[in-house]
Amino acid sequence: MELYSGHINKLIEELTGLPGIGSKSAQRLAFHLINMPQAKVERLAHAIVDAKENVRYCQECYTLTDQDICPVCANVNRDHGTIMVVENARDLAAYEKTGKYGGVYHVLHGAISPMLGIGPNDIKLKELMHRLEGDVGEVIIATNSSLEGETTAMYISKLIKPTGIKVTRIASGVPVGGDLEYIDEVTLLRALEGRVEL
Ligand code: ZN
Repeated sequence: MELYSGHINKLIEELTGLPGIGSKSAQRLAFHLINMPQAKVERLAHAIVDAKENVRYCQECYTLTDQDICPVCANVNRDHGTIMVVENARDLAAYEKTGKYGGVYHVLHGAISPMLGIGPNDIKLKELMHRLEGDVGEVIIATNSSLEGETTAMYISKLIKPTGIKVTRIASGVPVGGDLEYIDEVTLLRALEGRVEL
């Protein structure tokens, strides 16, 4: 016998497994959604489909954007010869919020994790190496200070070293295992200014 209606079960099933959503949270969300006004539910559903249909990777830095080229890459006043490598678009947003970084970015969309079976080919690393064929003076590696972030930083630096391009790593003022997006602007700037050459 089904405890809830089949429709609710289906909804719970779709919600379960989203980041941070276990089966209990999925149930709570499902009932919350059912109790929401129809118009609000429709707006939410449309926003999800809309975002999925219209958001794409920037052709240069691979962040998520509505255009072919994101506003940062399209800005001629940015220093296109300095590339900061981050794990995800949220980290990019964290650095952009400081308003003090004048270079451009490269978004990996993940980090190397042998434990999770994520290898170099599963993140936007080939794309980074391709960009380095252009005129680049420095690559700042700003992956998280987690095990995965450090593994990725080491891997990238080894890859770039032979090209002669300067490779730096943001300072370790960033708490270990800390997600960049949760770190305050002052700490982020200190980490950036205190970066060391690898
Ligand atoms: Zn871009």
